[in-house]
Amino acid sequence: MDQLHLLWEYQQADVEADKKENAIRRSPTRQKLVKYREYLIEQQNTMHRIEDEVAAMADRLEALKDAVSRTDDQLRNLQAKIENEPPVNAEAARQYIADARRYQNNITAYEQEIRKISKDVGDRERLQHDVKLRAAKAKNEFDKLKAPYDVEFKEQSKELEVLRAAAAEKAKAVPEDLMERYRTIKRHSVPPLAPLLGDQCGGCNMSLPSAVSKKVKAGELVECETCGRLLIIL
Ligand SMILES: [Zn+2]
Repeated sequence: MDQLHLLWEYQQADVEADKKENAIRRSPTRQKLVKYREYLIEQQNTMHRIEDEVAAMADRLEALKDAVSRTDDQLRNLQAKIENEPPVNAEAARQYIADARRYQNNITAYEQEIRKISKDVGDRERLQHDVKLRAAKAKNEFDKLKAPYDVEFKEQSKELEVLRAAAAEKAKAVPEDLMERYRTIKRHSVPPLAPLLGDQCGGCNMSLPSAVSKKVKAGELVECETCGRLLIIL
């Protein structure tokens, strides 16, 4: 058998191993597990985001409560001042009233914001609860699939190993420079070797100039001008 036909033998084995590898990667159970894992990560990220939001809200609540108690003090001080220094004229009375109103309005605004944030915190906590439930369900489904998948994966991997070993065995018969050429072509055209069918490339089905097919027939190493595959006569 010539080098090219030995390479063809290798390609048969290589294709089988690649098919197995793709089948492992595309296993429906594996796809499901990947989806569950992505979903779980998404839920975790949501949890972290909610936690951060709740922490920021708690800080804001603290600040607002401080502001309320500060303004309460200011209001009480104002009352004491009014008692100690009753307004001497209408203008002074108006000033007292304006100050008292301003403090009161501030307190009202703070309390409104406190109520709004407290409600938001409640909403976030309910959301957190839902996210936790959803994540727990997904984790449960993930775990149910994972154990049988691990068994399946182990078996499939063993089969793949056998196929790879068979291909490696065939590769031993092929000179290294030819193998290198095969690997280079494989980066853009799979499989890298194509039979010459009449005057056509069996890889891309394009017609070849008769001079090219003549060379192939003469046993030269020729690549298809269109797809770059090495041509072989079977
Ligand atoms: Zn071609």
